[in-house]
Amino acid sequence: MGPIGEGESLILRVSRNCPWNQCLFCPAYKGRAFSTRNLHEIEADIDAVRRTYECLEKTSRDMGFGGCVNRAVFGEHIKRSPEVYGKYPYEVTKSQWKAFRTLNNVANWMTHGARRVFLQDANAVSMKPTALLHVLEYLKKSFPTVERISSYARSRTCNKLTPDELKELQHAGLTCCYVGIESGCDDVLRYMKKGASKIEHISGGRKIIAAGIHMAAFVMPGLGGAERKLAERHIQETIQVLNELRPTEVRVRSLAVQEGSLLYRKWEAGEFLPPTEDQNVEELRRLIEGIEFDCLLETLQLTNVFTLSGRLSADREAFLNHIGAYQELSSLERARYLLCRYINEGYVECVRSWGLYDNSLHCLVLDAVSAVEEEVGDALRRVERAVFTIKSKGIP
Ligand code: SF4
Repeated sequence: MGPIGEGESLILRVSRNCPWNQCLFCPAYKGRAFSTRNLHEIEADIDAVRRTYECLEKTSRDMGFGGCVNRAVFGEHIKRSPEVYGKYPYEVTKSQWKAFRTLNNVANWMTHGARRVFLQDANAVSMKPTALLHVLEYLKKSFPTVERISSYARSRTCNKLTPDELKELQHAGLTCCYVGIESGCDDVLRYMKKGASKIEHISGGRKIIAAGIHMAAFVMPGLGGAERKLAERHIQETIQVLNELRPTEVRVRSLAVQEGSLLYRKWEAGEFLPPTEDQNVEELRRLIEGIEFDCLLETLQLTNVFTLSGRLSADREAFLNHIGAYQELSSLERARYLLCRYINEGYVECVRSWGLYDNSLHCLVLDAVSAVEEEVGDALRRVERAVFTIKSKGIP
């Protein structure tokens, strides 16, 4: 899955899984080995996209849509080749699944103008620069409509690339790198096995930006845990790193201690004390106050207590007012707010759709609801317990 905002993109897999795969908080690729894909495989995928693109365009023209793709074109295209894509609407067998998924991916891309591409999986820039250059050039040649190509990138990987290599990648079309900074504090980075130090984050990020590539930096309130001194250093030094780098975007992803992660085991063993949501909110406030440059800042992922999105130059005050209003609430009102945020605004629905809404979570949710309804003194603690467990099931 690509980051939020890449929903219009063609997803092109240039490597499999994560070459690092050690971050304690991340269950994404655990148990799956990293491998590169060779250029023939990637070219064959781009060629397959090209063929699908042309077929969809033809179906669209036949239907009088002049090459534009919409739901009607998508449906008609499936009806024309049921042996390839399954019976319309959507009776797809296992052997048809790959073709159907490609069609869906390409149709979605064309619906949005075929302008953006996202390179998967976790660190596309870990490819040999000459190979990545070739992929970018091949993509642009195959699809002149492409304006923006993005990928995840690790600071340490970017650090190993020379300024000339990054510049060449930018010239060839690499527009944006999403970099998981998470923290600027070396003790937190080391404990979480992030595989990058503060200095590496700064020098890797500087190289990206100097090459003219947009940088979207992910940071993670709560990653320092509940221990006050470390949490304080975590947020202070994260702000320092951001102020050194001045990325185009800052994306806030509050910590979720997910069941499939090594951090969850540490939590079970009592070795990691997670932050409360109130602590996450305070760290978010500090972050917004401490950033000294203009950027897009968003907290769109559901792990965050608030959904904020905007430019700091225009929206900082509104963001801080919003956060301040929450912080001024009584403990019971905050419990009510959190309950509403995590139970009624889609998170629990996602957990249900993953089949992970089990009986023990149900009991915690009921307990949190009754604590708020009965206005008991420890309502916030009981809501926090339910929220922690909801978040432990995964990230929507
Ligand atoms: S580098 Fe990214 S994908 Fe890989 S383990 Fe760390 S957070 Fe997960």
